[in-house]
Amino acid sequence: MKIFSFINQKGGVGKTTSVVTLGSGFALRGYKTLLMDCDPQGHIATQLGIHKAPGLRRWYYDEEPLEQVMMTVRDNLYVVPGDKTTDRVLGRMREEQWGTAEFADRLREESTGLEMDVVLLDLAPSLNHLQIAAMLASDYVIIPTRLRYTDLDGVNEITRSISETARRSRMPGRFYLLPTFFDRVTRETHQRLVELVTAFGRQVLPPIPQDVKLAEAPGRGMTIWEYAPQCAAVQGYINGNGKTIGGYAAILDELIALIEGA
Ligand code: ADP
Ligand code: MG
Repeated sequence: MKIFSFINQKGGVGKTTSVVTLGSGFALRGYKTLLMDCDPQGHIATQLGIHKAPGLRRWYYDEEPLEQVMMTVRDNLYVVPGDKTTDRVLGRMREEQWGTAEFADRLREESTGLEMDVVLLDLAPSLNHLQIAAMLASDYVIIPTRLRYTDLDGVNEITRSISETARRSRMPGRFYLLPTFFDRVTRETHQRLVELVTAFGRQVLPPIPQDVKLAEAPGRGMTIWEYAPQCAAVQGYINGNGKTIGGYAAILDELIALIEGA
């Protein structure tokens, strides 16, 4: 069982889209997958066309078993939905010294008990107790980031926070950067991608192209695999040398290789 969390203190960078797309991708490939909505905005539900619900609050705050609060949304795909009561989880974590470690331990134990293969956590756009709890729980932290100058500044803040958390805990994780909203026609995102790779090397995953299909799919209650499996966001873009680069299908392959090789 492997846990991934998707963290960036900026909103609108593709965290929820990546969790829903990669999570449903894992499920399609036969992995028993749990998506956990740790954002009070409850956008996993919005993207999958289900109702927001106090799933995270009931699990962590009311201490109900994971099994009781999760919903089945597709074959192999389960969701612990969130809503604004997720704020109470954060409140309790602030008060209790061991709250973040307890979150991580309980999540690992219960997901293993339910024979999950992968768990993906979607986080709110901040760097707070819940993000730290998610880091502690994670085998892999994925940082989706847009490729603009101001976004890259935020990346350094998160990677610092990850290093600090790792230093004073037994956090198992490594982090990877996932460039989103890649625009192959403008020079700007291209240059930023080169900068990211220069700074972080192989920890930078291939980019996800900017693609309006990703914004359209949720309105139809569909994942992108159901709505437009051939679109650029899934299949990648073709570069000047005729080579296909990036896309969620390629990222999914990399993550599967990562967990199977580990
Ligand atoms: P976050 O969870 O980081 O706030 P979201 O995943 O909700 O970000 O994405 C914000 C908006 O951008 C959504 O409307 C989503 O459909 C859209 N979006 C996400 N990724 C892309 C992309 N690669 N290209 C175009 N639109 C995208
Ligand atoms: Mg989100």
